Amino acid sequence: MRITPVIFNIAMSSYKNNHTDYSQYRLPVLNGLQRDTISFTAKEKDRAEDVSPSRKPLEELYKYGLSCFCCGRTMIPPEDITSLKNSHVLNSKAPQAVKVLEKYRNSMHTVERDVFDTLKEESKKHPDYDFRQILQNIKPEHETKLIKTQFGIFKLIELASTNINSEQKKQIKELIQNEKEKILQGDNKFRRKYFVNQFKEIFKDSKNTATKEHLIRLANKLPTSYENKSAFIVKYSSRNSEDIGIRLLSYSMCTIEHVTPQNKQGENHLFNYIPECMRCNSFRQDRPMIQQLEEHPEMFYNAQTLIDKLIDFANDGKLSKWYIVKITSRVSKESDNMLNLDISRLNMNSKMRKTFAKQDIELDEDEQNLLKELPKQTAPQKSKKERIKEKLKVLRANKNQHKEKKSTKRK
Ligand SMILES: [Zn+2]
Repeated sequence: MRITPVIFNIAMSSYKNNHTDYSQYRLPVLNGLQRDTISFTAKEKDRAEDVSPSRKPLEELYKYGLSCFCCGRTMIPPEDITSLKNSHVLNSKAPQAVKVLEKYRNSMHTVERDVFDTLKEESKKHPDYDFRQILQNIKPEHETKLIKTQFGIFKLIELASTNINSEQKKQIKELIQNEKEKILQGDNKFRRKYFVNQFKEIFKDSKNTATKEHLIRLANKLPTSYENKSAFIVKYSSRNSEDIGIRLLSYSMCTIEHVTPQNKQGENHLFNYIPECMRCNSFRQDRPMIQQLEEHPEMFYNAQTLIDKLIDFANDGKLSKWYIVKITSRVSKESDNMLNLDISRLNMNSKMRKTFAKQDIELDEDEQNLLKELPKQTAPQKSKKERIKEKLKVLRANKNQHKEKKSTKRK
């Protein structure tokens, strides 16, 4: 699921992170959105800086408004977010900032849209406030709601802590007590991720019992800012208005998902890329696509909607037809043949048809060449004669090598 920062490559070294939501998924986030600097490992940095040219054919389509492969939302082109940031318009008074964000409302995820609607309503009552002032104004009521939920979950955890040893029970009690104090101190001192990690640490050496799993499931129910409006408002009320506005959009931004995850030998290659929103991309992480399907069965429909649109682009010459053939084969393979997309509307040649029928995702030489040629489509194609000549050259070289090996063996 690695998210290579399409819009971030300008200022890679200054990615920021606040060790909460984003860092959980090791997402490079918008510069200025977060506070502390991420320390990238060399490997992560390599990955983050890999902006392979083979992404380009897809990135060029962002501006037409692609829908997410998983959740189906119309995704926001990264350039839009960059230019919003550069204009600093989101630091203006709320009514003006609302006006700018309005056109992205349908792209927002549920919590973000709820928060946006609240900002819009509140901006009518307080036209002189900016986003930050509005969130600060409504923070107390949401803090109360959030604390009720958090303390309720702590109660459930203590109630369910039965079949565990007394040392673990003691540790849980202490941890909860500490975290409750942090919550009551306010100032966003409570860190959900820290709590969940510490909580898991208590069970690190115990077997996978039903009680352990149940307890961890409960801890994971603590509200997050991407699933709970009050958690969002409490967390972001201390940020500046621009960060708040950008955060409403960033999870809906168009990113490139590796169909076969990188840690499962998925290549940085056009034929392994599918457009997906930042949220769906980061939530899948490196997990099998079948799990993503279980969590989002609407994907069966949404994936087809995206492919239909990409087929239109391919038929119009805006995208390689091979991409459609290869990516749908890859999706089918990666989803254990669960997600078989219909590409009958694609105007295929016979070779594409054969490849599709075989569900073959290995690239032959011609396709590799074709891929290399993709970004520079204006370059003149080699003639058939020239290509045959080249192939013969390779064949002859191989033959000679083979002969040489044989003769050395005889000696
Ligand atoms: Zn999505």
